[in-house]
Amino acid sequence: MKFETLAIHAGREPDTATGAVAPSPILSTTFARDVHGEYPHGHVYTRSSNPGRASLEALLAALEGGVAAAAFGSGSAASLSLFQGLAPGDHVIAPDDVYHGTRTQLRELLARWGLTHSLIDLTDLDAVRAAIRPETRLIWAETPSNPLLKVSNIAALAELAHASGAQLVVDSTFATPVLQQPLQLGADYVMHSTTKYLGGHSDVLGGAVIARRQDELFGRVRDYQGKGGAVPSPFDCWLLQRSIATLPLRVHAQVANARAVAEFLAAHPAVSVVHYPGLSSHAGHALASTQMKGYGAMLSFQLHGGREAALAVAAKVALFTRATSLGGVESLIEHRASVEGPHTTTPQDLLRMSVGLEHADDLIDDLRQALAA
Ligand SMILES: *Cc1c(COP(=O)(O)O)cnc(C)c1O
Repeated sequence: MKFETLAIHAGREPDTATGAVAPSPILSTTFARDVHGEYPHGHVYTRSSNPGRASLEALLAALEGGVAAAAFGSGSAASLSLFQGLAPGDHVIAPDDVYHGTRTQLRELLARWGLTHSLIDLTDLDAVRAAIRPETRLIWAETPSNPLLKVSNIAALAELAHASGAQLVVDSTFATPVLQQPLQLGADYVMHSTTKYLGGHSDVLGGAVIARRQDELFGRVRDYQGKGGAVPSPFDCWLLQRSIATLPLRVHAQVANARAVAEFLAAHPAVSVVHYPGLSSHAGHALASTQMKGYGAMLSFQLHGGREAALAVAAKVALFTRATSLGGVESLIEHRASVEGPHTTTPQDLLRMSVGLEHADDLIDDLRQALAA
């Protein structure tokens, strides 16, 4: 079945008890036993499983071409479930521009847990090869990356990982399964912050891990989900399932808008560089063309005028909201270096944008007036 069809139908059927076509959240935390003491519907207690969460997980697994998915209450809980599935002394390789929250988990939470890590430029395969140790268990990739939209080679990283007995995780939040399916390229797990494009409306926090095989580490992810308890609420699962039905439409329209905005910015004299994999000037363009079905709706750009000019443009835009996060219907703009704090390696003259679903002409008009100031 094609992606658009799966996005609507996977994990979803009319309710057998009522005939309801649209799903409703089952808010119950507990489920009845029959006279024999069995659970005829398979659900016992909502921390362990809930009908709506099971539907959402079936949908996510279908969209990524995986065998199973585990849904969490945030993307951060999803990434932590994979890291906590490792043992003290294990080693993780992650990108040097990894999402700052993932970096904080590795540096602050998991260092105390005895996990070691190396932050490497994953676009440099020789550097990755050199960083692999006997105790390396995971290569954690994030492509396209934040905020420079660097593209790393999923198939090559999977080969490198597997050759040394490690596994590959791809944080595919920026790409969505509409544009990139890492499991098909050899990755073992996909991680999403479903807070972003899958939710799509900036009103639900969530995360997921999707597995290529029912293996040992995924078993521990599942265990951590039920026993650690960082699960999404039934209402959040329902919101996500509702949003995912329109995911392909939203993403393709956002990609078209992002391209128009990127081309406008690339031609503007106040802009020194635009980071967007869809532009042939971008270092990851050729690779993105082979491993993605589109170039995404995230982009960043730098200004000749430095930090002051970047802050001034962010202050002057009227349609873009100054806010963190991404993937919603509304366009957002952000001075990343300010958000990331004193340890940031993000250039001070850089602004990051999540391009939404407004008309591209309106977005471009807004940027034109902001850049003219
Ligand atoms: C937002 C984000 C996360 C963390 O997800 P939360 O839902 O905020 O916990 C992880 N990775 C990437 C790429 C993100 O954008």
